[in-house]
Amino acid sequence: MDSIIIQKFGGTSVKNTERIFNVANIIAESYQKGYHVLAVVSAQGDHTDELLAKANEINPKANLRSKDLLLSTGEATSAALVAMALEKLGLPAIPLMGWQCGVETDTHYGSAHIKRINTERVLSEFAKGNIVVMAGFQGVNIFNDITTLGRGASDTSAVAMAAALKAEICQIYTDVDGVFTTDPRIVPNAKKLDFITYDEMLELATLGANVLHNRSVEIAKKYHINLEVLSSITRKQGTIVQEIVSADKSPVRGVAKDEDIARISIIGVPDIPGIAFKIFSKLSSKNINVDIILQSIGRNGTKDISFTVVKSNLDTTLGLLKDYITIIGASNIVTDCNVAKVSIVGAGMEFQPGVASKMFEALYQNDINIQMISTSEIKVTVLVNKENANQAIRAIHAAFF
Ligand code: ASP
Ligand code: MG
Repeated sequence: MDSIIIQKFGGTSVKNTERIFNVANIIAESYQKGYHVLAVVSAQGDHTDELLAKANEINPKANLRSKDLLLSTGEATSAALVAMALEKLGLPAIPLMGWQCGVETDTHYGSAHIKRINTERVLSEFAKGNIVVMAGFQGVNIFNDITTLGRGASDTSAVAMAAALKAEICQIYTDVDGVFTTDPRIVPNAKKLDFITYDEMLELATLGANVLHNRSVEIAKKYHINLEVLSSITRKQGTIVQEIVSADKSPVRGVAKDEDIARISIIGVPDIPGIAFKIFSKLSSKNINVDIILQSIGRNGTKDISFTVVKSNLDTTLGLLKDYITIIGASNIVTDCNVAKVSIVGAGMEFQPGVASKMFEALYQNDINIQMISTSEIKVTVLVNKENANQAIRAIHAAFF
C-alpha cells in the first residue's frame, strides 16, 4: 500500500512523556499497516502560552518576526520528542520544521497564510521508508524567515499537507471524542456527532467552537479532504467532516458560544444616506471585521447603529471612530464588552421553518433578553449578556436535542 495518512496531534495529546509514547504507538500502528505517515504535532500542553508570557515579560512590543521564531520552537520541541519516541520503538522517524516540509507562507507574522507547499522533501523521506514528524503551526516566507499561522493553526498545517500530498485521510487527534452538539463543559449531556458537513463545521469553528481552526475547515472543503476528529486517549470512532450528511431529526447540528467580542453603538447618527458606508469603510480600511450589525429606524432625524467586533479590535475601532463620529454628526459612542454571541448551526434549517422561533422561545422561557440577531441560511446568532450565555446554551440545546 502506498497511501498517505496525516495524523495531527494537539497539545494535550503530547503534553508529557506518557502521552508522547501513546502518540508514537498510534503512529506505529498506521506505519505497520503500510501507510506513509506524516504526523503533525502541536506544542506540548500550554507551552505556546508560556512562550508568549516569556516574550511579554521581556518586551510586550517585541517585533512579530522574533515572536514567531520563538513560538515556532514549541512545535519543534514536540516534533523532536515524538520522533525520539518512535526511534525508541524501533521505527525510522525524522522530525522536520514546517519550512523543511516546504510550507511557504505570506509575510503576515503571527497569522500567516499558506501560499504553496513544496512536497519534495516529505516525499523523499517517504521513499526512504521514513515516518515524518512535522512541527505544525509554521512555515517560511519569501525572506526565508519563519512565520506562524495563528493560534490553533496546527490543524491547518495538517489539512494543507493532506491536500498537497493527496492523502487518503487526515485525522485530527485531540482530547475529546470528536465534535459535540455543544461544549460538554456547559451541557454535560451534549452528544458527540458522528458526521458534520464542512459548512456546518466552518460556521461552528468561526462562531466559537474550539475544535478545529477555521482555516483548516476551509481548506478541507476546498480540496474534499477526508477529515476525522477523534480522541488520542479513548481512540473511539470520532466525527467525520464531509460534504454531505444524511438528514437527521434535528435541523440543528450544534450550538456555539463566543465571548471574545464587544458591542459598539453609535448614537444619534443623522438619518441620511451614506452614513453606514462612511462608518464601515473607515473600519474596513484598517482590516477590521465587523460582525452583527443593527440599525434602528430613524426618529426625529437620527438613528443608532450598533455592531460587534472581536475584542482585540476594540481599541483600534474606537481610535478610528472617536473623532470621526463628530465629523459625521453623531452624538456619542458607547461600548459593551459584557456580551456573548450564542449561535445555532445546521444545514437542515434552510429547509425547515420555525427554527429561529424555537430558539427565541427557549430564550424567552428563560427570561433572557436578545440584544441583536443575525442569520444566514445555516445559522442563527443572537447577542446576549455574558452572564446569560451558558444558561442560553443549555436552554437552546434542550429545545433542539
Ligand atoms: N501551539 C499553537 C497554539 O497553541 C498551535 C496549535 O496548537 O495548533 O495556538
Ligand atoms: Mg486546537
